Amino acid sequence: MPTRTAETELGNMTEQIAFTAFDEAAFEAAVRAAQKSLSEGGIPIGAALARGSEVIASGHNERVQHGDPIAHGEMAALRAAGRQKSYRDTTLYTTLAPCAMCTGTIIQFKIPRVVVGEARTFAGEFELLRSRGVEVLVLDDQRCEDMMLSFQQDHPALWAEDIAE
Ligand SMILES: [Zn+2]
Repeated sequence: MPTRTAETELGNMTEQIAFTAFDEAAFEAAVRAAQKSLSEGGIPIGAALARGSEVIASGHNERVQHGDPIAHGEMAALRAAGRQKSYRDTTLYTTLAPCAMCTGTIIQFKIPRVVVGEARTFAGEFELLRSRGVEVLVLDDQRCEDMMLSFQQDHPALWAEDIAE
């Protein structure tokens, strides 16, 4: 698997961060969850929670599948992970930049690191995350961007509903 790099802003510096092979594998779990949701007629956003070298759980947006407006990909992955004594040694992987709701949950649970597939089709709340000390890494994954672009074009009303536009 090729090693990718992504830019992360640290203060005024832009630093190239190398992703580990495990990061790639955990991120792939989020991508697979998004693809599964798409195959079910749902919104193609997936996420995974990992600790050390273990993917604890993954999940995807369930707005369509379960009629659950709170079940964004990140929320579904956290729900699937069940009770955790601490999140301080975890990383949350998500195919799309986290919205305000998911950002609030990341801050509330003190998840220190978030790896994001892409933020071009939805900007999310990076400023808020970083202001609370969360490390945010963006992969600029072309598959994630293509998946969201075609979904947003094919289902504009559903997309607008999901982000409350
Ligand atoms: Zn969200």
